[in-house]
Amino acid sequence: MKLNPIRKYYDALLHALGPSGWWPGETPFEVAVGAILTQNTNWGNVEKAIAALRAARALSPEAMRRLTPEALAGLIRPAGYFRVKAARLGHFLDFLAAEAGDALDDLALGYLGRQELPRLREKLLAVRGIGPETADSILLYALAKPSFVIDAYTARLAQRHGLAPEETNYHDLQDIFTSALPEDVALYNECHALIVRAGKEFCKKSRPRCGDCPLGAFLEGAA
Ligand code: SF4
Repeated sequence: MKLNPIRKYYDALLHALGPSGWWPGETPFEVAVGAILTQNTNWGNVEKAIAALRAARALSPEAMRRLTPEALAGLIRPAGYFRVKAARLGHFLDFLAAEAGDALDDLALGYLGRQELPRLREKLLAVRGIGPETADSILLYALAKPSFVIDAYTARLAQRHGLAPEETNYHDLQDIFTSALPEDVALYNECHALIVRAGKEFCKKSRPRCGDCPLGAFLEGAA
């Protein structure tokens, strides 16, 4: 059986690219908002939306919940799909209020953080507009829970390296990565960040730059 090489990939990426310092965000709530806003857009657009929220002093659960849906949509317009995302933020705020007993202060995320991972993940997945990637991003980067994030870059890397066929679903891909790594928040955090950085710089959708990539030596048939 082929040995799962993901730990070696992680070491090679970290050695070549250095630590990522993820996820940018001043509070767990800001990180969670970023995880929702980054759906279907690039991070530069999310930063503009976050800056607008910050300028409007709307980057806390209480303040954001006081905004009308139209006002919230207007502030996050740079992130694209702004009406849909405003509704998703609204669903997330409703969820936070229900979980934290309507105490929608800055500690609401802390309340979530004290819950057990499997049940909390289920609850997040039940929030409209939060899929597995967003849920795992919130769990890992906002709440420091060991929930490995799979995204398009991760799937592409796994497929190109023969670790998973193209149609592999989210949870099977997650298993491939978590079965090769110790369950460790810092390591999951860094591993996902490194994969995204490698994906952006080398493992592009078309014309991957394998010759320059820190993982080029691991490709089947590489010298
Ligand atoms: S660019 Fe090539 S070597 Fe790098 S991760 Fe993608 S497929 Fe692998």
